[in-house]
Amino acid sequence: MRCELCGEPADKLYEVEIEGARMRVCERCARNGKILREISEEKPMKTSEEELFSEKMIRSDYLQIISNAVKRMNLSADDISKAIGVEKQEIKQVLSGKIPPTDELAHKLEKFLNVKLFD
Ligand SMILES: [Zn+2]
Repeated sequence: MRCELCGEPADKLYEVEIEGARMRVCERCARNGKILREISEEKPMKTSEEELFSEKMIRSDYLQIISNAVKRMNLSADDISKAIGVEKQEIKQVLSGKIPPTDELAHKLEKFLNVKLFD
């Protein structure tokens, strides 16, 4: 992270208000403004997770795994749709094997059905 005012790298930044403008600045520069909050190093979690996902391939027997879990838990497409917040139509198409799940949906299903869809 870098201070938006002096450009120096800093472990910790402060969100401050300086002359009416909100900026993320280092401790030194923060003294020139009104400190709103402290910002600690933000890990780019989302990006690394997305990268991780894209490297994985969904298992070829994903449909079998999903169907088994759905039967075992006695779920309908409607139940799944409501539980994971995905359109029922999409769930139905995936369950019937018409379309493969998107990575996002596959990961939601993994969590909800407690199965592994990626190697
Ligand atoms: Zn600074």
